[in-house]
Amino acid sequence: MSEDSSKGCCCGMNSPAEPQEKRLGWHEYFMSVARLISRRATCTRGHVGAVIVRENNILSTGYNGAPLGLPHCNESNCRIYKSTHPDGTIEENCVNTIHAEINAIAQAAKHGVSIKDSDIYITSSPCIHCLKVLINVGIKTIYYAQPYKMGNIVELVKLSGIRLVQVTMESNQLE
Ligand SMILES: [Zn+2]
Ligand SMILES: [Zn+2]
Repeated sequence: MSEDSSKGCCCGMNSPAEPQEKRLGWHEYFMSVARLISRRATCTRGHVGAVIVRENNILSTGYNGAPLGLPHCNESNCRIYKSTHPDGTIEENCVNTIHAEINAIAQAAKHGVSIKDSDIYITSSPCIHCLKVLINVGIKTIYYAQPYKMGNIVELVKLSGIRLVQVTMESNQLE
């Protein structure tokens, strides 16, 4: 963690950045934050992080986990329910868990932060339930890292007009 401690000033003025230490683009920056946040997730089914952003400012964050004050998931109390989509595909979710996107929206609501016309970075593409809420709170673009059951959401994405964009850590465009 202290890799720069021997190089003098933390701002780097005394030690020019090495070639491999390129400056993060905005997509890498926010997706890196989302990945870090996902490490707070508690559901054993999967760890997801979300960051709501407008004009390159972080407005709210969330990770998947149990509601405040309730027991976290572990191997014994992760409770799975199955839902069948109209096309027959079966989705499994944990009944104890609030998804990362919804927790980010809840955090914004709790503190009175408007998230209309913002974007969201999520480590996985949203499930259809979260997608519907993201549409209604006025999210313009969903940036995701890992695709998750895209077949369930493509139609709604198309109908709603919300943008869905995959971001890899090589996506370094400064939009
Ligand atoms: Zn769980
Ligand atoms: Zn979801």
